[in-house]
Amino acid sequence: MSDYLIKALAFNGQVRAYAINSTETVGEAQRRHYTWPTASAALGRAMTAGVMLGATLKGDDKLTIKIEGGGPIGIILVDTNAKGEVRGYVTNPQTHFDLNQHGKLDVRRAVGTDGTLSIVKDIGMREQFSGQVPIVSGELGEDFTYYLVSSEQTPSSVGVGVLVNPDNSILAAGGFLIQLMPGTSDETIAQIEKRLQGIEPISKMIEKGLSPEDILEEIVGKDNLKILDKMPVSFVCPCSRERIESAIISLGTQEIEAMIEEDGKAEAQCHFCNENYHFSKDELIELKNQA
Ligand SMILES: [Zn+2]
Repeated sequence: MSDYLIKALAFNGQVRAYAINSTETVGEAQRRHYTWPTASAALGRAMTAGVMLGATLKGDDKLTIKIEGGGPIGIILVDTNAKGEVRGYVTNPQTHFDLNQHGKLDVRRAVGTDGTLSIVKDIGMREQFSGQVPIVSGELGEDFTYYLVSSEQTPSSVGVGVLVNPDNSILAAGGFLIQLMPGTSDETIAQIEKRLQGIEPISKMIEKGLSPEDILEEIVGKDNLKILDKMPVSFVCPCSRERIESAIISLGTQEIEAMIEEDGKAEAQCHFCNENYHFSKDELIELKNQA
């Protein structure tokens, strides 16, 4: 089944709620970057949270998440938009550690706890919004919650999780985002807090086959939920051979001539999707003529 995200309101519009199954999307990232389990969980959690934050945007809005926690995984970079398209990478994809004391993938150890989570939103008309918070947990769900509360002043709860198969493929990935509108009653807040404490880990719910709709029902209660929209989610990288060709052409004839002389070929790799682009000597000569 293809990944999707559900947008909903709850408690008569007092609460915005999002849930996502991102298993295929995180699986695609794992296959492209050959990530090991702990790195898969870190990248998958960041991508999953990213898609949900992207879903709060509109139209052609985009956002970029950069997590630099000082840990062995290096930097986590995620690019996403309001259409459920996401791509991402980590500096060191072959990062893995033993399970932590809770029997879970030790994302905190891979990410580190000495650094920052930054988000840049490109909301059109050359407007940008950026926010940065210190890493408070390193498990990432709590870090995104902290970001929303502290940088965007929106009381929120973010849950993200990834389970990995013994062969390193992705078994389950997903998440939820709950946001309180201004004026949410204390009674509603208390109910949501109680329910959040009682639910199973998000990755477990996805593994058991719960849909995003089911997950939101678990969190806010069936009678309180009003589903607004369903959006497909997938790993998308807009890089292409044409884009790389344009980049090479823009280097100018001298630079291209130097490439032809020195290597007789050129290779470029997209960080985000790990796609390789090769250019032969003849192809470079052709590009030089266009420069
Ligand atoms: Zn790419």
